[in-house]
Amino acid sequence: MVDQQTIEKAKQISIIELAYRLGIEVKGTVCRCISPSHEDKNPSMSFKIETNAFKCFSCGFHGDTIALVRQARNCEFIEAVEFILNESLNQTSASEQKAQKHPLKRNLNDSKEKGEKYSDIYSYFLDLLPFPDEDHYLIKDRCLSIKVLKENNIKAIKKEKTWDCVKSLLNIFTEDRLCKSGLISLSKNQKPYLFFFKCVALIPFYDQGQIIYLQGICDKRDSNKASNLMGIKKPVFYYPKVLEERSSKEGVIHVLEGAIDTLSGLTIGYMSIGIIDAGVRVFNEIDRLKNFPIVLIGDFDKAGLDAKIRLYKYLQEIKFDVSSLSIIKLANKLIEHGLIKSEDTNKIKDMNDILKIIKKEKSNGTLK
Ligand SMILES: [Zn+2]
Repeated sequence: MVDQQTIEKAKQISIIELAYRLGIEVKGTVCRCISPSHEDKNPSMSFKIETNAFKCFSCGFHGDTIALVRQARNCEFIEAVEFILNESLNQTSASEQKAQKHPLKRNLNDSKEKGEKYSDIYSYFLDLLPFPDEDHYLIKDRCLSIKVLKENNIKAIKKEKTWDCVKSLLNIFTEDRLCKSGLISLSKNQKPYLFFFKCVALIPFYDQGQIIYLQGICDKRDSNKASNLMGIKKPVFYYPKVLEERSSKEGVIHVLEGAIDTLSGLTIGYMSIGIIDAGVRVFNEIDRLKNFPIVLIGDFDKAGLDAKIRLYKYLQEIKFDVSSLSIIKLANKLIEHGLIKSEDTNKIKDMNDILKIIKKEKSNGTLK
């Protein structure tokens, strides 16, 4: 039982600090709504310092520190109180203490900071998963090449095997760290489950050889959304692993929207990177592109166009060699290179259409 005094204490802890601790991306006093029933594109949730509470002005979801933790960690009232007070007292949890005694676990717990904090977990997890096979959604429907998927360590998730993965993870890492990494969530009755259970594939994001982030890809028939790890700040560009490894090589870099389009660009043979969240400012890692001419390839939706226009203007301002290419112009270039025929171009709306046509025209049916 928790007494009233303890509950009151938990309600007094700064809600914005708490949000940071939960990994919620707070800008000033606002963030995106964390209610699962609200797909918030722009930050609609706001923190009020005077009342130490939050409220979403779009869907009305609101509450105090305890409600925030319960939602973010999917836990019960008492655990939320414990989380707030334990963490604020900087105590090590019991499971973490137990883990410290195990030599392997102790080793894995050391040496991590910031974004790389959970790279050991992500690498271990990816190693458990198979590569997509020829029937996989990314190869069959999105027409990505197997070679590109392998080069970038894209893995498939088999739904019937997810529990095995969770068990393997729990053998090596503490539940606490797994939850903090975002990979594991706890159900209402405290059973751990895989955060990416609805996904068919995972795309790792690398930074200097370490996996710092994972993005889950859902089958279009379920929901065409990508599933981003909760609690971890998103890198704004997706640099595929192959590019990360040969970043000094010369050439043109194509900037596309999202990880799958980036992999589509690589499948065509273009050096490609992706803008991940078109709504977020995209400029903080721009230095990495310094020596390359940049070509922005436009999608037709509003968020994509807005982000590209901003990026285009910004790159011009800071004297980058930047140009922009519509999907139609890209298709025309591919005709010149003999990859597609001109009668097919009227069907093209996006990268997926281009890959479908290229795939159809290859006799073996699969892009190699
Ligand atoms: Zn909301």
